[in-house]
Amino acid sequence: MEIEAFEKKIWLSSPTMHGDERKWVDDAILTNWVSTVGANINEVERMTAEKIGRKYAVALSSGTAALHLAIKLCGEKLYGQPKVGHGCLEGHKVFCSDMTFDATVNPVAYEGGEAVFIDTERDTWNMDPVALEKAFEIYPEVRLVVLVHLYGTPAKIDEIRAICDKYNALIVEDAAESFGASYKGVQTGCLGDVSIISYNGNKIITGSSGGMLLTDSEEWAHKARKWSTQSREDAAWYQHEELGYNYRMSNIIAGVVRGQLPYLEEHIAQKKAIYERYKDGLKDLPVTMNPFDPVVCEPNYWLSCLLIDESAMCRQVRGEKEALYSHESGKSCPTEILELLARYNAEGRPIWKPMHMQPIYRMNPFITTNGNGRAKSNAYIKESGFVDVGADIFERGLCLPSDNKMTMEQVDRIVAIIHECFA
Ligand SMILES: *Cc1c(COP(=O)(O)O)cnc(C)c1O
Repeated sequence: MEIEAFEKKIWLSSPTMHGDERKWVDDAILTNWVSTVGANINEVERMTAEKIGRKYAVALSSGTAALHLAIKLCGEKLYGQPKVGHGCLEGHKVFCSDMTFDATVNPVAYEGGEAVFIDTERDTWNMDPVALEKAFEIYPEVRLVVLVHLYGTPAKIDEIRAICDKYNALIVEDAAESFGASYKGVQTGCLGDVSIISYNGNKIITGSSGGMLLTDSEEWAHKARKWSTQSREDAAWYQHEELGYNYRMSNIIAGVVRGQLPYLEEHIAQKKAIYERYKDGLKDLPVTMNPFDPVVCEPNYWLSCLLIDESAMCRQVRGEKEALYSHESGKSCPTEILELLARYNAEGRPIWKPMHMQPIYRMNPFITTNGNGRAKSNAYIKESGFVDVGADIFERGLCLPSDNKMTMEQVDRIVAIIHECFA
């Protein structure tokens, strides 16, 4: 069967405008509220808090800014306010999800802390509670955990919360990718001591950029808002007692978010249909989709991903910046599939390369279920019995085009392209 290339590029995940965004942006311009103050910001904070079921939402310039302030709130609560020029996490380790976008963990470094990466489990591709428990046995003094819900699938929060309670640790929840997903009926964004979501351009709801810090503490919401607007004290002039940041969301961006928010459920339904169509179309191939337990959670299906069976991997070698593979009949690899998708004008992406494999974090500890250290390759993992789930999912997995505007015919064409890889 001849597969036709896509005339218009199929994106991994692109913004979807509905019309109301323009109305609220125009409104801001017409009323001259072109600033980091205005009705759109207030409304977006109210709507986000209400949707997630959290008392307070603080509108910020990005999810990364929200993570920075969330981590700082916890760090100062645990260790006190640092001297100017120092981070609040200096001399302290923080347990972090390992297989994630680096924005999850970089704020730990902004505050001078040392990220300790916790390996991934296979059931949800999130932080492994068994490895986390192991990490607390090795470093019982740790009091902070940064947890992500990858690709819109909630982590095993009950197990993780129980371990954190045992060791008296706080959780910063990175729900940047999982807005609208729920765990046992509770929305992600409610599951951390402080939580964040992102309104970046490729997320399920977007303002082009932007993020929210979520908390049930009025004091923390107030503090985050103050820090985000240069930590101005209530005085007649610019009076400063604390370090400040320019992290507030603009009222123009908030206008875009305000127009988008009513469409969260629609976007989730579209993403879910795409995920299910892939799952059905790929069922005769030696691959599985990114997994979740439907009894405990409902993902938002932000990205559809697949994992190639070990026995169906062709040879693939990845260096620091390039990859090579050799095609074998009946087998394939992420590099081959991504290359073919690109040739047909569709955008896929490798799985987030685990943080413990990143040159920038090569000196940071990495804790797995059966040891403390780093694997070099899948071959090494097999020979040594060393478990490094993140490295394995990175090697065998990839993100499929998951744009919510894709038609089922387009999903079918992607499925056909993947079949061609295994031919
Ligand atoms: C997108 C993303 C962020 C950062 O959000 P920005 O708004 O882009 O700063 C953080 N964590 C994860 C897991 C993300 O996917």
